[in-house]
Amino acid sequence: MNQQDFADIRKQWASDAGPVVDMLIDGNLVQASDGRAFACTDPYSGQDWGQVPLATEQDVDRAVRAAHRAFEEGVWRRKPAAQRVAVLRRFADLIEANARDIGLTAVRENGKLFSEMYYGVLAFAEDCRFFGTLAETVHGYTIDMPMPGYSAWTRREPIGVVAAITPWNTPLNLLGWKLFPALATGNSVIVKPSEFTPVSTLLVAKLAIEAGIPAGVLNVVTGAGEVGNWLISHALVDKIGFTGSGATGAKIAKVAAERHARVSLELGGKSPNIVFEDADIDEMLKWTVLSLFATAGQACNAGSRILVQRSIHDRFVEQLAATARNVRWGDPLDPETQMGPLSNRPQLAKVSAYFDCAREEGLSVVAGGGRPDHPGFFVQPTIYADAKPDSRLILEEIFGPVAVVIPFEDEAEAIRIANDTRFGLAAGVWTRDLARAHRMIEAVRAGTVWVNTYRVGTHAIPFGGFKASGIGRETGIEALEAFTEVKSVWVNHG
Ligand code: ADP
Repeated sequence: MNQQDFADIRKQWASDAGPVVDMLIDGNLVQASDGRAFACTDPYSGQDWGQVPLATEQDVDRAVRAAHRAFEEGVWRRKPAAQRVAVLRRFADLIEANARDIGLTAVRENGKLFSEMYYGVLAFAEDCRFFGTLAETVHGYTIDMPMPGYSAWTRREPIGVVAAITPWNTPLNLLGWKLFPALATGNSVIVKPSEFTPVSTLLVAKLAIEAGIPAGVLNVVTGAGEVGNWLISHALVDKIGFTGSGATGAKIAKVAAERHARVSLELGGKSPNIVFEDADIDEMLKWTVLSLFATAGQACNAGSRILVQRSIHDRFVEQLAATARNVRWGDPLDPETQMGPLSNRPQLAKVSAYFDCAREEGLSVVAGGGRPDHPGFFVQPTIYADAKPDSRLILEEIFGPVAVVIPFEDEAEAIRIANDTRFGLAAGVWTRDLARAHRMIEAVRAGTVWVNTYRVGTHAIPFGGFKASGIGRETGIEALEAFTEVKSVWVNHG
């Protein structure tokens, strides 16, 4: 997309109320049964657009019953795996063919850079292909029996009805991590996207029908937490895959525990990004722009605690502050923009409250620390220093373009500070010393460790958290395990 394209799209959006979209229940595109709807807000302009159905409890019940019926009848799970693969490949092709429109919709609903959203849609299609293909590799194993006359083996079977509850920060990719492995392994799925970003998911749901996913196998209901709660509380939901805040994750796990439903949770982080004195600083700063600022810090794996060896601390802080000040923030459609607005009004209020908190706590502001004078949900790229270990800005996930720099003396202290958190989602290590990199990989308690890079990923490698960052893993082979039950079979053949 070039400058002219983006200017044209902006003009069109300014005069366009946006689409009236439908939910997908039992193979039908429908409005809410009582006709109620809500609008999305464009975080760049602050203007409302679109009409999205606000599901009733009855709509949610219909979606769950349809998913259950489709599972019981076996219209999807009993298809030969090769046929499921063919449908999912068609689904992937359709997503790819519509990537530009879906990517633009994602920008309009969550304000992230078009470059990130567009490539995100292409990655979403690739995830569909990857997990679709894996459908043919889901099988159990046999063992050499110690008992004569017996055979035993295992089978991997779908769990049943899966509820996928997704967040607003990376709506499609975090959906794909649940939806595609769940479908590949033969489950039925009901998706409840975030109330801030439902439209891109609904566009994708339409394509699912075209791809040939049978009625009831994929359903999407829209609305806020209340709708999500109806869904996860439904007695016919066997498994919940959730990405979002720790507080909501805990509520969901409690509800699921009552009926022993399976749960995977991908929650928050306060990831350490650790810079040793021998690191390539320019490279580290480049990746900080790409991984922290390009998302306006709205990534669960954001490296928001930057640990720096004391010998290079002062100079590093100056360089980092200059980098933050030079970030080109603005319209996420503009190819020149490096950082867009925050995704929604509540998030703007939350990040602004942390700016106030930093002032009250007396932290040093080395860049940003406030809101620019601009419409939309913008905040400045922000770097703090001189925080006490018990500062809320060190302990809590902010989910904004905000990092705190913390000095350390040596490797032992870096490890102690890195692990001094209730989270354990990710970590970065910057050093040219290979042996040190390996010691850090082992010592840091986190689900992902990046060395001399940050926030790169692929569907072939698992992602998830230690400690309060979650339960279970998404992507990788582990994703197939998360959506299957193991059945052990014994046969006495005499
Ligand atoms: P955030 O604070 O980042 O918006 P949430 O954890 O509140 O994240 O939201 C993530 C997803 O969980 C959204 O789709 C939201 O609507 C949904 N949600 C919120 N509360 C509940 C709940 N009690 N039960 C089920 N889903 C919920």
